[in-house]
Amino acid sequence: TKTLRLILGDQLNSKHSWFAKNDLEVYYVLMEVMQEQQYVMHHVQKILAFFAAMRNFAHQLTKAGHRVIYIKLDDTDNLQNFDTNLQQLISRHKINRFEYQLPDEYRLDEQLKAFCQTLSIDSGVADTEHFLTTRYEVRDFFGDRKSYLMETFYRNMRTRLGILMQGKDPLGNKWNFDHDNRKKYDYKVPLQEPIRFDHNVLALKAMIDKMGVKYFGKVDAEEFGWPLSRTEALQSLSYFCENLLPHFGTYEDAMLNEHISLFHSRLSFAQNVKMISPVEITTAVLAQWDKNKEAITLAQVEGFVRQVIGWREFMRGVYWAKMPAYETLNFFNHQSKLPKWFWDGNTKMNCLGKCIGQSLDSAWAHHIQRLMVIGNFALLSGSNPDEVDQWYLGVYIDALQWVEITNTRGMSQFADGGIIASKPYVSSAAYINKMSDYCKNCHYDYKKKYGDRACPFNSLYWNFFDRNAEALERNPRIGMMYKIMRKFPAEELRKINEQAEVYLGMVDDL
Ligand code: FAD
Ligand code: SF4
Repeated sequence: TKTLRLILGDQLNSKHSWFAKNDLEVYYVLMEVMQEQQYVMHHVQKILAFFAAMRNFAHQLTKAGHRVIYIKLDDTDNLQNFDTNLQQLISRHKINRFEYQLPDEYRLDEQLKAFCQTLSIDSGVADTEHFLTTRYEVRDFFGDRKSYLMETFYRNMRTRLGILMQGKDPLGNKWNFDHDNRKKYDYKVPLQEPIRFDHNVLALKAMIDKMGVKYFGKVDAEEFGWPLSRTEALQSLSYFCENLLPHFGTYEDAMLNEHISLFHSRLSFAQNVKMISPVEITTAVLAQWDKNKEAITLAQVEGFVRQVIGWREFMRGVYWAKMPAYETLNFFNHQSKLPKWFWDGNTKMNCLGKCIGQSLDSAWAHHIQRLMVIGNFALLSGSNPDEVDQWYLGVYIDALQWVEITNTRGMSQFADGGIIASKPYVSSAAYINKMSDYCKNCHYDYKKKYGDRACPFNSLYWNFFDRNAEALERNPRIGMMYKIMRKFPAEELRKINEQAEVYLGMVDDL
């Protein structure tokens, strides 16, 4: 049977069983289409990284003896949409059967299911063979509980996979080493530059410009060092294991003016396009730990494994349990537009200027920058979660809706009313000052709640709790904050709220 198999841009899994044998009756197709450049405005590095990685993958498949069709964005017969291109190929090559792999994004899943309905030939769908869990495992695990607790899911994963376990108990008798981790950077160990690869993407950039693709952010050779092939992904993993893992957990929440990534792996792009799998990553990390237990503590390893087999699988599971309703949730009914400096980093708030500036320059920021600086401000200032989602989905190199929206709308904006997070992740300047050196270079004073140059995070923080008392005060995890707030003298709270109102009226100019 002449079979056409579609490989999406985030399905670059060379270990997939599809490729176990060569069959010239099978045509593999990868395509660059306008459809995928337009559903949200992307960062230019994200577009270039996807195209370059797809081209490398197609080249590797061809070299391995498979029959590959690659449609470039500027090919004259490119119809710029999956359906129409597929239809054209089916007639041109007299295809008898169409196959694809389960898309990770709801929108593409719906599109391809509908497409198959229109076909007069047979069709079939295969698993991506990438994740540790199935699409609906989290849904089935939690049943109809109102909120899903990552920790419960994570412990189950550890037990099921036998990772960091001694019999039925967790190694070290603790499931969670967060308490030992998450320190401010104290200059006790030297910082390491992230691994960067040399890529020339000038021709690709000229092509997308010629085609009129709209994008934002910037690209220069220095910053565009992403792993774009499996070989580079494996090198990034080794680099992480050898150089960064020993301090990953300790400084995973720290932020610095002069260093963008500290000890983070920056493996998210390689992993999300499936050039490398969570099993490979976890296995390598555990093997490195085995080799070098003197330099690497259990807390570092647990902190990392929790992200990969815990958070990442959990977020995907919540996505499939809750879509499509999830993308419309807006618990606080927030309606504000994002401040205009989300698009140029031009704000006097140093923490936000640094984190947004870094995101625009390099299409990447680490978890705490995304959550406790950028997302924190978006939530405190009442931003519409649709706008927040679109910004995050566009700006980050690793942003695919299944992992973006659950983090953004769920964990960061609490727009799901607490399915993912048991309380909103908000903080005043005290937390940012504790975890970074941002405040010392700032126009604003992190100690002041109101008055001249008072840090906006402070008044917005208390104002957020005050204006959402009805929705939040009874939440046992937040009750403490209300107890503190209720002890403020009335005059103090009035001044805080007044200051917050002033700032909310001038967010573009903060
Ligand atoms: P490391 O810190 O080295 O962690 C290792 C790996 O763990 C990551 O590569 C990632 O695969 C996984 N991981 C860690 N935290 C999470 C998490 N919360 N959810 C899922 N996986 C996680 N991650 C994305 O991959 N795509 C996104 O679009 C995305 N959007 C986010 C938006 C917000 C508001 C927040 C708070 C987080 C978001 N994250 C997203 C999660 C996390 O910030 C990134 O995965 C991480 O910063 C990627 O860098 P890294 O590879 O160096 O991660
Ligand atoms: Fe950010 Fe406030 Fe600190 Fe400035 S003072 S860096 S705005 S937290």
